[in-house]
Amino acid sequence: VQPPEKPLQTEEWKRLQENFQSPEIFEEVMLNNMIKCNSRVDVAKSLLTYVAKSDGDIGYTLLIKYLALCVQQQKTSEICDVYDIMKMRFKTLESGAYNLFIRGLSNSDKWRMALTILEDVKKVMTPSRTSYESCIKAAGRHQEINVARELYHDMLAKDLVPTLDVLQAFFDFSRGMKDAELKQELFGILSYLRDNQIYPHRMFMRSIKLWFESIPGENWRGHLTNIKHSGQCPVCHHQLEDSNLTEEEYRILKERITTDVIHGRDTFRKTSPQEFEAFQAFVEDRLPFDIVIDGLNVSHIKPKKMHCENLFHAINCLAKENVRLLVLGRKHMLINSSNWKQEVMKEMQNKADFFFAENISEDDAFLLYATLRSGKHCRFVTRDFLRDHKACLSDSLTRHLFRKWQRGHQIVVSSSAEGKHIDFLPAFNYDCVVQTTGDTWHIPYKDMFEEKYSYQVPRKWLCLQQKQ
Ligand SMILES: [Zn+2]
Repeated sequence: VQPPEKPLQTEEWKRLQENFQSPEIFEEVMLNNMIKCNSRVDVAKSLLTYVAKSDGDIGYTLLIKYLALCVQQQKTSEICDVYDIMKMRFKTLESGAYNLFIRGLSNSDKWRMALTILEDVKKVMTPSRTSYESCIKAAGRHQEINVARELYHDMLAKDLVPTLDVLQAFFDFSRGMKDAELKQELFGILSYLRDNQIYPHRMFMRSIKLWFESIPGENWRGHLTNIKHSGQCPVCHHQLEDSNLTEEEYRILKERITTDVIHGRDTFRKTSPQEFEAFQAFVEDRLPFDIVIDGLNVSHIKPKKMHCENLFHAINCLAKENVRLLVLGRKHMLINSSNWKQEVMKEMQNKADFFFAENISEDDAFLLYATLRSGKHCRFVTRDFLRDHKACLSDSLTRHLFRKWQRGHQIVVSSSAEGKHIDFLPAFNYDCVVQTTGDTWHIPYKDMFEEKYSYQVPRKWLCLQQKQ
């Protein structure tokens, strides 16, 4: 039903409700449509008046829908009215309602009230990250930097992951300020990006650039550039960090992955200890490999092709003289089917070693084990980003080493837009991560807000240097 253009009288609403196919949900459907059509708030108000007259009460869900409409249109005084009503009638609200109030008020001149509500929410539950972000941005916009920082640390302490949006906001509202503590905070955000292998998008990168260039008396200059394959910055001629792990770093990583990921509880929820032992014996017999391939993953590169053809193509691309390949397969690949032709399977097994795991097994642990056991030179092929495993690693040093190793050893396979070509993007010589030498910063960034595949590392960089 189309919401009316103007407020209606009780009788008019009544007639509409009676003609509606399911009168018992009339108000809800009507309010939903009002939100969709962004109807005038006074039209919604007249509906609520009608409901109050006929039912003697307005239910929680109707109030929330009305609130959503008011927030959508920034009607501050109406938002405050609903807040007073709800506070009187309900002891606590659910988080969706708090989110709406905080979002609505943080964008208004009553933004301090949003902070108060946030404090109230904290007494009963963990506020959502969007609530924190609304408040942080509101405080920032009104130059209450310390309040913004406190809220930011508070949300980090509660393990809420800030969006890039809120991190960017810090750079925006700190522009032009001379404040050593604030500067440390922003450097902290940059090292947070580094540690978590997060790449800012173009707009965020611009905010970083403008902030650096605005620091009074520091004379920073930023340039956009592409880094050469050698890893040297064409603007300032600095050599970017090497992507190789030292022997010591590699040893630490190998040990931690073995304990945390491979022998940790996590693995054995997905694969049986017997199967993993069989795999270990298989690998130890044939070490070392040069490239370990996640067969199932690679077999899906071109959706229109047979799975075994995709895998065959990948193996042919990677198999060069004296290169030892290990393909992690699943048992179902050994049963003749439309996707897995057994004559192709036989041919592949002449070019590479295959290990076939149970169909249910999670093969990331296999991939990590075989690659790490083969040594520092060994690389691996998968389209996955091994996200789950990062979470299993117990400390930030190991997570950092893991990501660095991953960037240097993961061969990324992607098919072209038309699906005609398969590309194998080689691992980089330099480390694609936010980095500084004190008087320079190099920040890789993405062109778009969301790039399709998170494992694709950016080629574009912001070079910042401090001119003496
Ligand atoms: Zn540079």
